[in-house]
Amino acid sequence: MLHRHLAIIAASLSLIACQPQNETAQQESQTTEPAPAVEQQAVMQPVTAEAILAADNSGWRTHGRTYSEQRHSPLSQINTESVSELGLAWSFDLNSSRGIEATPIVHQGMIYVTSTWNVVYALDARSGAFLWEFDPKVDKEQAGKGCCDAVNRGVAIWGNNVITATIDGRLISLDAKKGTVNWDVLTIDKSKPYTITGAPRIIDGKIIIGNGGAELGVRGYVSAYAADSGKLLWRFYTVPGNPADGFENETMEMAAKTWTGEYWAAGGGGTVWDSMAYDPELDLLYIGVGNGSPWNQTIRSPEGGDNLFLSSIVALKPDTGEYVWHYQSTPAETWDYTATQHMILADLEINGEMRKVIMQAPKNGFFYVVDRETGEFISANNFVPVTWATHIDQETGRPVETEAARYSGKAPAPQLPGPLGAHNWHPMSYNPDTGLVYIPAQEGPWVYTDAENYEMKLGGWNTGTDFTFAVLPSDVATFKALKAAVKGRLLAWDPVKQEAAWSFEHKGPWNGGVLSTKGGLVFQGTADAHFAAYDAASGERLWRFFTQTGVVAAPITYELDGEQYVAVASGWGGSFVLGYGGVLPTGSQNNAGRLLVFKLGAADTLPELENVQLAELSIPEMLDVGEETIAQGLKVYANNCVTCHGDQAFSSGLVPNLRFSGITTNAEAWRSVVLGGSLAKSGMPNFGKVLSEADAEAVRAYVIAEANSGRDEEFYKSLSAAED
Ligand code: CA
Repeated sequence: MLHRHLAIIAASLSLIACQPQNETAQQESQTTEPAPAVEQQAVMQPVTAEAILAADNSGWRTHGRTYSEQRHSPLSQINTESVSELGLAWSFDLNSSRGIEATPIVHQGMIYVTSTWNVVYALDARSGAFLWEFDPKVDKEQAGKGCCDAVNRGVAIWGNNVITATIDGRLISLDAKKGTVNWDVLTIDKSKPYTITGAPRIIDGKIIIGNGGAELGVRGYVSAYAADSGKLLWRFYTVPGNPADGFENETMEMAAKTWTGEYWAAGGGGTVWDSMAYDPELDLLYIGVGNGSPWNQTIRSPEGGDNLFLSSIVALKPDTGEYVWHYQSTPAETWDYTATQHMILADLEINGEMRKVIMQAPKNGFFYVVDRETGEFISANNFVPVTWATHIDQETGRPVETEAARYSGKAPAPQLPGPLGAHNWHPMSYNPDTGLVYIPAQEGPWVYTDAENYEMKLGGWNTGTDFTFAVLPSDVATFKALKAAVKGRLLAWDPVKQEAAWSFEHKGPWNGGVLSTKGGLVFQGTADAHFAAYDAASGERLWRFFTQTGVVAAPITYELDGEQYVAVASGWGGSFVLGYGGVLPTGSQNNAGRLLVFKLGAADTLPELENVQLAELSIPEMLDVGEETIAQGLKVYANNCVTCHGDQAFSSGLVPNLRFSGITTNAEAWRSVVLGGSLAKSGMPNFGKVLSEADAEAVRAYVIAEANSGRDEEFYKSLSAAED
């Protein structure tokens, strides 16, 4: 079970979870102004709990299709036989050059999808005709505090309204037919680095929404708001606050016994930034809870402790937010091993007994089956190679860690998985017919090591670890070895046997979310700019379509007028892309986020994209500084800049490539942007409280040295030559 084949690797390939972002490259122009007259039914049937529970095939009315979040559709017109006839019915330009992570929502012939910076589009689900657009004009200064691109995972629908949550922490209700604002409420303390990227879920008129920010220093919570008024109904904190302020409830008092030291100093973390599920019979809401803040437990909770409810699935009463049970997959979390990954509810026969289970494949690399009534651990096995634990103890449900796993005070060494996880936010699916869970799985080693002289600085990252060892090596041989260790696949997993049924190896990690159907198909987009269908039983790839740009979002399907449609948003982005998209190119062309909708017999084509070359830009002259300054610049860059501007200062193109930026060659402009916050309104964080003048100037020297390294676009492409 334990794989140690990475021991030869000297440094780790770093795949980070999240980071502040800068202003986007220029956006593709688009004309969406003239709203063609689209015939809509005069009266919209409001979305109710019954409508979501009925889950009829004409719609996709909640994030995971049903409250069980199985992302499996009973539709079968498109099937293993007919899929060869699948073609593009229409596409819609989402006016984005960054990551699109949204799951579209479909109701009554309309499809709602979100783009970069939370712009919502409403389209005719049959034709793609534009109906309305809503731009919440997010505060990009707040958004710049986010970790992982200007992304979000889509809207919710309830009554006659579309509910959207924004990266600057707002929850907004829109009229579903007109896109006009009903109400707009702030769900966060804007003095802290909270952001929202997750999609809201709605249970009996209560909108459930969490947030992110545990890389930068926040205390996690999930809230319920009244769908009709936007009024706050309850809030459940996932980690305890300072005892001196009094605990909110007995649950927090209980949780506090598992923490030590001044754990509240950097918020503690535990953000609920993505996954939720709901069981209407048990009337339990399940939330996936994130990593600690700081990551490094020796700083966060120096005398140890499990640190509840970090890296846990927590069951709550949706009416009150009252705690019911929890299962913690990574006690004493110290690696950014969040349990925010997709959770699926199903009934499985295990040892001759039907069990109501919840399933999760969190970042830590183990696949968990847990009793969803009680939180009792049932089984777990690793679904990718892992080096941090040998197995999960069957009696206690706790991981048996390897000696090297807790890195504090030890020599830097690579570990699997890294902070981007064996599985990240990209949704999986469960097909009750095959009994298999389809996981967008990945491998990426990382070197965890203590930060030198850690000090909490609000405005920067606060992981308590040093990312310098996570930067790719510059010598070609080691670079290639590390590149080879970074993998991605579509993995079909048997949750009863806890073993793989099949897997389909992709060219690299960070592929799209998954949809499965009664037609015996599994749909998934890929980093190398394709959208494909696989045989659910065998894993054979039966069909694929070139999407020009990479796909990270999850597909959906619906049926209107007897025709089955499959829809997916394309748009290459998110944390892996920001960090490594430049140095590990995938063949994804210039980013152009679109909604792509397919049906049988259709043959529409995508407009050709212009390929903007970075190589034509001039290389700046080296600064007259010593090697120590450049080495210091690398260290500061790795710990503050790499997660947006890219490894080796070679960006993915989602944010400006600093090597060729006019700001880099102008000391005064650099100072104004980095330390003065002059581009804060565009999303570039102000590092004035985080970096010294010497640090900022050392980064500039390092970036210019990288520009002169000879490792250019052609170099990275030559190391990542595509096979087909
Ligand atoms: Ca994280």
